[in-house]
This record gives sequence, C-alpha cells and structure tokens, in this order.
Amino acid sequence: MNDKRNRKSGRRPKKCRFRGNQHIKFASFKKLNVNESSQLPTNDSERFRFIDISIFKDFEKSLCCSTCFGTINIIETTNCGFSSTFKISCQSCNVEKTWRNSKMVGIKKNVPTINIRVVFAMRMIGKGAKSLQKFSSYMALPAPVSQKSYDKINDKILRATTVVANSCMKKAAEEEELLTGSSDIMVSGDGTWKTRGHSSLVGVCTVIGAESGKVIDIDVMSSYCKSCEVSKKLNSDKSKSSYQQWQSHHAKSCQKNHFGSAGKMEVEGMKKIFRRSVAERGVRYLSYIGDGDASTFKDVCEDKPYGINTIIEKVNVWATYKSEWEHVLES
Ligand SMILES: [Zn+2]
Ligand SMILES: [Zn+2]
Repeated sequence: MNDKRNRKSGRRPKKCRFRGNQHIKFASFKKLNVNESSQLPTNDSERFRFIDISIFKDFEKSLCCSTCFGTINIIETTNCGFSSTFKISCQSCNVEKTWRNSKMVGIKKNVPTINIRVVFAMRMIGKGAKSLQKFSSYMALPAPVSQKSYDKINDKILRATTVVANSCMKKAAEEEELLTGSSDIMVSGDGTWKTRGHSSLVGVCTVIGAESGKVIDIDVMSSYCKSCEVSKKLNSDKSKSSYQQWQSHHAKSCQKNHFGSAGKMEVEGMKKIFRRSVAERGVRYLSYIGDGDASTFKDVCEDKPYGINTIIEKVNVWATYKSEWEHVLES
C-alpha cells in the first residue's frame, strides 16, 4: 500500500501534522463524523462584511447631502476592537451623522456584537486572543479587543453556552424517559481526555441515552486552573496571607476540580453524574453500557448513588447482539 511506485511524484507524502483546535484534540472527537460548519448557529440579523475603508472616497464622490446637496465626507472617528464609529458630514451645511458597523448589546448597550462574535469564532476554531491579534495584523484590521475584554466576553460565552447545554441535556433526559416509558433509563457512559496517555490535565465524562442517542449529562474534570497558576507567579514575592486572601475569593470560580490522577477522572466524573441524575435530570441510570473499563462501573456501583438496595445493571452489548451478528455473518 505504501509502495513508492504508486505515488505520482515518487516522493514521500507530507506528514499531516496536527495543529490547533482544542476541541478536535479530544480523542473521541475523531470517532465522530461531525461536519462542524453545519453545527454553527446562524443569526439572520447579523451579517458581517470586510470593507476596505479607502473605498469611502468612492462613496463620497457618488453621494450628496440630503439637506443642501453639498459634498460629503466620511471618516472613521473611533474604534474599539472591530467595532468602528463612522461620521458622515456635509462640507457646506455642516450636517453630521454617525453610525456604527455593529449593533450594541448588554445591559448598558455598550458591547458591540462584532466583538462578541469574533471571540466566539476564535473559540469555535480552538484559537485564542493571540491568534486573533495575528489575524488582525495580517488582515490590516484594527487591533482586536484587549486580553481583558477577550476574557470577559469569553466568560459571557461560557455562561450562555452552559445554560443552553444544560437545557438541551435536560430535554434529552425527558425524551429518553418518554422513549423508555420509565424514569429508570439505560445509558452509555464513557470518558475522554484532552491528550492521550495518563498525564492529561482535562478529562470529560459523558452519559448518552440508549434509545435517543443524545447526551444526557457531562462532567468536565480539570487538574489545572490558569488563574491559580498566574496568581502563584504574581504572588511569589508577596506575603502568604495576600495569596490566601486571593484564593478564598477565587475559590468559587476556580477551574481545578480534580486532585487525583488522570486515570481517576472517569470514575470521579461518572460518580458525580450518577449522584445528581435524580435531582438534575429526574431519571435514574439503572442500566449502564460501558466500555472495557470495568473499574468505573464497579466504583459507581459501590458509591450507591440510588441507595444501598438499588442495583445498577451492566449491559453487555456484545451478548445482546452476538446472535444477530453471527446470523448476518453466516447468512
Ligand atoms: Zn449639506
Ligand atoms: Zn483556580
């Protein structure tokens, strides 16, 4: 198959080096046949375009003042990230009007949607503020939002995404209950890690409804918190008490929620998912389809999430479909 003679150029093909996307780095993502672009949310009221602002000179030539038909000027007055304000003024009667290239949202109507959109876009392709700066520079765009604003917008996106994800998963649990005809449902559970091997700092546990095939709950386990790392460096020369003060304030938003080995992430995450299933999804996961990792199932059972007398059954998918498999093979 790898015979050089079969290659048109006769050269060794270029190695496909993996770059970038954090989302795709999750091992299980490769197993999914997902067309990412088809998953993107669309909003008809928001349609952006790039424009070379030197073209304003052409506009000026073909437009005139609506009051006195005088010659007009168009200039960019301010910009904040990709949000710009333009002023159109008449050279004769001094009538002026300003407009923005993006709508403003937020309680104070002071956040341009274009800046939210661009941070969202960077998150979707697995890039961050530094990549956005490079992109802006090569495209001759204004400097994008600062790191501080980027982080603020990122937090907003996270909050919005979490709310939507929870609603979707609650709905999926209801659907599963309806399809099963009982609030005791069968789920398939698995864990995945950000990087392969046993040193990953982030892992994700998922349970999927056996009937609907939809994700019912997930839990993200992280042994790392960027804010903690940065704070440790900044406070290394300050007193211990000031660091402790910061820690007590930060505890609520700290992303580090796992203190054991990466291998234990699946077990710990799955235990949490089972413990909250009644309170947060209104169902019990009494039948469990797991992969070869028997220790996860064993530890979840020993945790007794539904009381000491309730048994969780492990479903052996192979045994269920073995005869069907053999029948097709032999036919
Ligand atoms: Zn005028
Ligand atoms: Zn932290």
